[in-house]
Amino acid sequence: MKILVIGSGGREHALVWKLAQSPQLTRMWCAPGNAGIEQEKIQKTEKPVECVPISAENLPGLLAFAQEKKVDLTVVGPDNPLALGIVDLFQKNGLRIWGPNQKAAQFESSKVFSQGFMERHGIPTARAGTFDGAASAKKFAESLDGKCAVKADGLALGKGVLVCGTMAEANKAIDEILVGKAFGAAGAKIVIQEFLEGVEISLHALCDGKTAKLFPTSQDHKRALDGDGGLNTGGMGTYSPTPFLDQARLNETGRRILAPWLKGCMEEDIDFRGILYPGIILTKNGPRVIEFNARFGDPETQVYLTRLENDLVELLDASVSGTLGRIELKWSPMASVCVVMASGGYPGSYAKGKAISGLDEAGKLPNTKIFHAGTARAANQIVTSGGRVLGVTSWAKDLKSAQAAAYAAVEKIRFGGAQFRRDIGAKAIRKEI
Ligand code: AMP
Repeated sequence: MKILVIGSGGREHALVWKLAQSPQLTRMWCAPGNAGIEQEKIQKTEKPVECVPISAENLPGLLAFAQEKKVDLTVVGPDNPLALGIVDLFQKNGLRIWGPNQKAAQFESSKVFSQGFMERHGIPTARAGTFDGAASAKKFAESLDGKCAVKADGLALGKGVLVCGTMAEANKAIDEILVGKAFGAAGAKIVIQEFLEGVEISLHALCDGKTAKLFPTSQDHKRALDGDGGLNTGGMGTYSPTPFLDQARLNETGRRILAPWLKGCMEEDIDFRGILYPGIILTKNGPRVIEFNARFGDPETQVYLTRLENDLVELLDASVSGTLGRIELKWSPMASVCVVMASGGYPGSYAKGKAISGLDEAGKLPNTKIFHAGTARAANQIVTSGGRVLGVTSWAKDLKSAQAAAYAAVEKIRFGGAQFRRDIGAKAIRKEI
């Protein structure tokens, strides 16, 4: 089978690495990929994975490439091409592609849509309102005493959510989005949710239009600094599984969210084939969904795929074909920890082009994989080229050992201004002990 993977981050490196292990795979491209992805080899043929310089948003370019190379399956990593309708375009041209179509991708591309969907179908969520005018939005925020999350409707590079603790903050957030147009058209409407207290976890479910197969739990660390300080980021590290939700409660949570979600999709004629990734807060009144994403999380993918025992080609193929019901997901009992190494200054401005050393040495450590995100090749060395640079991932019999192994690998890697959290998984380990 010939596969094209779209995207260039740590998530896509993890997808490529896992897909490359499949006995079904004969050739693989990644558009545009990164310096780590181009070092991967297809296990069966020993042939290298080929990176092609087509951006993830260049839909006509990607289509022409897939047609020319007679790609059997295209795998979409990031949210943007999904929201732009890449799945619909490929399908119209008779090509197999994995990911939700444009209508189904609305769960991520429109917070107004997904909030309304949750309310229509009884999915446990936060008390919320949808607004396009500042005056009514402020009135609603006042009813919550200013303790709320103000969310731009559309995709805003992960920056469209402003969490507020006071009325002054809420007024400012509402004005910024609705009046100041901080997120342009993506902020023409907003959703305001009550602020929910509790542990935040990520769930992932692989779907085929009628079945949803739940993954184990994982947890991201969104803030830039240790102890959950600093600015919100794309994610500074993950681990799986979490001790905050045992298997019985995970199954119960999955049932309470996925059963009404699947029924709602059926009723609204939404054919969702891909990953549904709800963000959940475990409140004292039970789990509440605060958002839906419609693709693999980054860096959740790095810990999930280092624990997944199935052939990923077979899983994604079944997700496209609608035959997931016949497959059982198998997970290693090992725990996995991913520590993100970022450029100094991230999530604000940062320098690029810093030489990275120690990658080979770190990559030779047992049960460790260095996933690349923002890296590029310059002459004969690998340099930084983005905010999140590497996802250093290790797996071991328990979280504590996996965490120690990941940080041992981090210690071997150097680049100017490298920034990372030293407490990925720490809260979970404290709870386990
Ligand atoms: P989202 O992109 O909607 O997940 O929001 C980004 C981050 O804002 C989440 O990861 C949460 O930490 C926080 N957040 C969003 N909505 C809420 C809410 N209703 N209550 C508390 N925190 C929230």
